[in-house]
Amino acid sequence: MTNTPENMCGRPGPGVEPTTADRAWLAVACQLATECPPSRTEFSAGVVVLADDGTELARAYSRQHEPHQHAAEGALAQIAPGDPRLPTATVYSSAGPCAERGPGLRPCAELIREAGIRRVITACRELHTDGASGTDGASGTDGTERLEAVGVTVIELSEYADAAKAPNQHLL
Ligand SMILES: [Zn+2]
Repeated sequence: MTNTPENMCGRPGPGVEPTTADRAWLAVACQLATECPPSRTEFSAGVVVLADDGTELARAYSRQHEPHQHAAEGALAQIAPGDPRLPTATVYSSAGPCAERGPGLRPCAELIREAGIRRVITACRELHTDGASGTDGASGTDGTERLEAVGVTVIELSEYADAAKAPNQHLL
């Protein structure tokens, strides 16, 4: 491991109580969000996926690899489906995973559920619910609620909400 600040964040917390490491990793995700290619119409978010032992499995920001790609989508695409570390991994997402997208596109909440991830930490769960690409926001259910409904632990650390919203001010 190289001696980057990220690697000194440490292992993810084990449960429903956020740890110092959890806060540090969410800060990394919020910083990633500032690296997104600018968009006048789409949200900018950052995501880090961390294994239980502290190994970083993936990170991505919105539109990093493809136009319109969401951060969680880009991060999960870097991890093999069925990776045995996924069920105990934690997703750090600056914005709550989206619940709905346009035709043919998979919402991030669905991708996280399918990956088998059981723990999500976000700075602001409501950011992604409308205004995102292809989303009408009409369902009234956000991605974090959908994940909680299937037993995923979702922790909101609202002290990072300002950082998560900073690259999205023009959309809010
Ligand atoms: Zn999404």
